[in-house]
Amino acid sequence: MTRTVPAYAAPAPGAPLERTTIERRTPGPHDVLIDIAYSGICHSDIHQARDGWAEGIFPMVPGHEIAGTVAAVGDAVTRFAVGDRVGVGCLVDSCRTCEFCLAGQEQNCADGSTGTYNAIGRDGEPTYGGYATQVVVDENFTVRIPDSLPLDVAAPLLCAGITMYSPLRHWQAGPGKKVAVVGLGGLGHMGVKIAHALGAEVTVLSQSLRKREDGLKLGADHYHATADGKVFDELAGTFDLIVSTVSAPLKLGGYLKLLRPDGALVNVGAPEEPVSLNLFSLIGGRKTLAGSNIGGIPETQEMLDFCAEHGLGAEIEVIRADQINEAYERVVASDVRYRFVIDTATI
Ligand SMILES: [Zn+2]
Ligand SMILES: [Zn+2]
Repeated sequence: MTRTVPAYAAPAPGAPLERTTIERRTPGPHDVLIDIAYSGICHSDIHQARDGWAEGIFPMVPGHEIAGTVAAVGDAVTRFAVGDRVGVGCLVDSCRTCEFCLAGQEQNCADGSTGTYNAIGRDGEPTYGGYATQVVVDENFTVRIPDSLPLDVAAPLLCAGITMYSPLRHWQAGPGKKVAVVGLGGLGHMGVKIAHALGAEVTVLSQSLRKREDGLKLGADHYHATADGKVFDELAGTFDLIVSTVSAPLKLGGYLKLLRPDGALVNVGAPEEPVSLNLFSLIGGRKTLAGSNIGGIPETQEMLDFCAEHGLGAEIEVIRADQINEAYERVVASDVRYRFVIDTATI
């Protein structure tokens, strides 16, 4: 027995998304049935629906920034009750027994974690994401959205928020640290808010000064345009941590020069093409070039609690489901401040 729910799906790679229906499993003993209220549009939804990264599973229902309320729970569920405000991010399952799962780093599961969409679940069925009215998820991959966070501004925290929070915490952004965020988009704007709330001195490095006013309002202390090459000389040796959110190829050597000794340049965005680097730019000053991919379930909960405590939500534009394709075009054109969120009541 499954339940049929309305959804928006890409029927084929690159095809516009259209209204359809999908089947959700009947909640098992450990499952929660969630009435989805809002679903954020992440840039990776567009990559996957358009098949830019790898061969996708179609029809595809994207969406891994899910916020809603619990509508039903399985018999064995202990952590949630009907009516609870909950979120689901990029993962809905993992092996749960490897050292990484046991450490709460499900994103690094040795057996491969299960994506919220565009994946084959451990039951052998394709997973479908949040552009739908309901979803069924194991309680261990469901997180609580604190009461003080409105669901619409909380939705993007489930991917954009944790993608920035995890590296900022791991590389110890905080008082006395100088942190730069490269790119002020869906990820970058959350990075600025979180780094500022952690107590770091925050700089935005953006192509132009177009969003400077926004950046300062979001919590940045400084804002520089990287199109002006002089910035790379002026700010040389400044930062303890740089987190790059951009998917355009970066001149890595130039950015590494901006780090203090022992500093780290962490990439959460990636170009589709390989990059090259002169390794001398790492050797001098013992610098680190790293990447980071979302975060585990416990850290996602910690991030939501932190955001609630500091009053942080995403800057959003709420759209109707029939505006999804238009929104995709606007994301690709960087014409969004700073996240589109689908009101799933319009599906
Ligand atoms: Zn995402
Ligand atoms: Zn595992």
